[in-house]
Amino acid sequence: MAADARPDLLSLTPVELRASLEEHFSSRGQPSYRAGQVEKWIYERLASSVDEMTDLPAAEREALSEAFRIDEPVPDTVQRSKDGTVKHLWRLADGELVESVLIPTERRLTLCISSQAGCAMGCTFCATGWGGFDRHLTPGEIAGQYRASRRWADENDSGPISNIVYMGMGEPLANRNAIHPSLTILNQGYGVGARRITVSTVGVVPGIVELAERPEQFRLALSLHAPSSELRRELIPLERRHPLPEVLAALERFDDGGGKRITFEYTMIAGVNDAPQLIGPLGDLALRVHAFVNLIPFNPIPYQSWGPSSPERIRDFERGLAARGVSVAVRETRGRDIDAACGQLRGHTLVQIDRKRARAKV
Ligand code: SF4
Repeated sequence: MAADARPDLLSLTPVELRASLEEHFSSRGQPSYRAGQVEKWIYERLASSVDEMTDLPAAEREALSEAFRIDEPVPDTVQRSKDGTVKHLWRLADGELVESVLIPTERRLTLCISSQAGCAMGCTFCATGWGGFDRHLTPGEIAGQYRASRRWADENDSGPISNIVYMGMGEPLANRNAIHPSLTILNQGYGVGARRITVSTVGVVPGIVELAERPEQFRLALSLHAPSSELRRELIPLERRHPLPEVLAALERFDDGGGKRITFEYTMIAGVNDAPQLIGPLGDLALRVHAFVNLIPFNPIPYQSWGPSSPERIRDFERGLAARGVSVAVRETRGRDIDAACGQLRGHTLVQIDRKRARAKV
């Protein structure tokens, strides 16, 4: 099937959207306010098809559909955890599957979105990493997870989405051509404050530098998981390409931007990265770039025999870091009963699809 050459309205930044729509309507002799009407349908009413834009004349809806498409992810599977966490598996226009997760807490509703279908980074503690890489997502497919999740949250009385984290499947900063416009779209188009959006990376240095140079105060989370290059290399293969000292130098540039908060994510794996002597070096790194440290009990994944650190050991880390003046929190693991670790739901679904295909061949 030939690829659809029509631009996806959801992939355009607000400035591009305005320019494209004005050009389209002016070429049809239509007034320029038509562009504003369509913008409203996209950013405020979350229209997922041109047919919904009922304040446009029928002929204009038809012409708009011929010129543009709207490729919003459609729900494939929804799982609700006992703790309120909701995981969506979305089907993209070409059949690819990606996940996003809604995580309610007392004061927030955080949406965790994916930036790639699969991931090429191969981190040893991650279900997505074990599944391999399929393709980058487009800006519209990334922002589309927000739109579709917001609609779901509205329909299910889950409240407004307050925060977005790029912590789902994929390494966002390996897909910078889409990440930068997607951040602009979420911030300027849908009005999500920059400080409410966090981009997570395993340490793609050029991407950290680019984010540091953006004027908006997007937040950054580094998947650290080990305070030394030697240990980190065992968990994150990218450490060979971007060693920790280089990553720290890039984080210093980010921190120098002022008001841009850095978080270290530290997944605690029993017997792997939870030795008490690592508390000091971890604290030193955090203090150097004023990072907040999230300690996360490891969520077991299918292809690894590792288990989470004991609650006592996690508390030792928390106390040890706090005693050194580091801001630290233990992040509770959410949605354990619904394939909670990133990549698991998609992984299981792909396995099911493979099994179905295998059965069909028999
Ligand atoms: S942790 Fe992130 S970067 Fe590493 S394999 Fe998983 S999705 Fe990719």
